[in-house]
Amino acid sequence: MEFDLIHRIHQRARNRDDVVLGIGDDAALLQPPAGRQLVVAMDTLNAGVHFPVGTMAADIGWKALAVNLSDLAAMGAEPAWCTLSLSLPDADPAWVDGFLDGFLDLADRHRVSLVGGDTTRGPLSVCVTVHGFIEPGSALRRAGAMAGDDVWVTGTLGDAAAALSRLHEVPPGAGHDEMARRLDRPTPRVGCGRALVGLAHAAIDISDGLLADVGHVARASGVSIRLEVDALPASDALGEAFAADTRRTLQASGGDDYELCFTTPVDARHRVAALSETLGLRITRIGTVEAGEGVHATLADGRAWQPARNGYAHFEVGR
Ligand code: ADP
Ligand code: MG
Repeated sequence: MEFDLIHRIHQRARNRDDVVLGIGDDAALLQPPAGRQLVVAMDTLNAGVHFPVGTMAADIGWKALAVNLSDLAAMGAEPAWCTLSLSLPDADPAWVDGFLDGFLDLADRHRVSLVGGDTTRGPLSVCVTVHGFIEPGSALRRAGAMAGDDVWVTGTLGDAAAALSRLHEVPPGAGHDEMARRLDRPTPRVGCGRALVGLAHAAIDISDGLLADVGHVARASGVSIRLEVDALPASDALGEAFAADTRRTLQASGGDDYELCFTTPVDARHRVAALSETLGLRITRIGTVEAGEGVHATLADGRAWQPARNGYAHFEVGR
């Protein structure tokens, strides 16, 4: 079964000039640019775990690449190549065509070439590796946040988690409203990540929920991070659909946002504002780095705030 599917993939993949040999041999041959470091990331999406069963093939294709590009963005890297391991319950050419529609659409937007992979029979699972480049010594890391830094986040938070929580009302593929779209078609902040090189002290992409991911930055940097919960950016749709505390919980611990969270020195505020303007991307200041440890979320009046665990999770897709 695999041969026909691989043929379809081969037909549609387009090679950059630095792909010496792409799909079709035992391995790909790639020419990295002189003087730059290679950045590599891998993420797997399993049906029923990382996306709801019944998600459209094109959305799975888009998301499988998007979550990987998001990791490169969080390092400040420029993406170049990817490989794709597909485990499929049956050899359905229509499904693969749909998958490639989403996958290659996003790949083309970022000039990423699909240079190889593997195709096997098994439970539906998609594993992608992305390769990119970075100027030596300038990658954005989780370590590096310094006391006094501002903490920022791109875009809006909580929409994807909201869509998951409403799955029983709006099945996947049905009403593709704004929030469902954020779940199915996350936008990796690749341009922003590149622009943060030389500007941000530390960065991470938000995949497991803001509080959890900011916790990784705090730990890696050996600092404490205070988040102003009422400053967290929300889409209009999220604001309209949920009461204040449910909304806060979705934003702070929802996950699947694929926004970038980063810290900068206070004297860089005008540069962040200019970046937001240039990219046409909302960037919101959501907190401060302090001496100490852990993540501390506070309300506008200074009171400590905790997420209402399971306050919204009618349907939890585990991870
Ligand atoms: P081998 O048995 O030598 O590993 P395969 O038959 O698995 O070869 O793969 C043949 C070619 O097709 C290789 O270049 C491989 O990288 C590519 N390929 C296989 N599956 C995929 C896939 N899902 N996406 C992209 N390329 C693939
Ligand atoms: Mg193989």
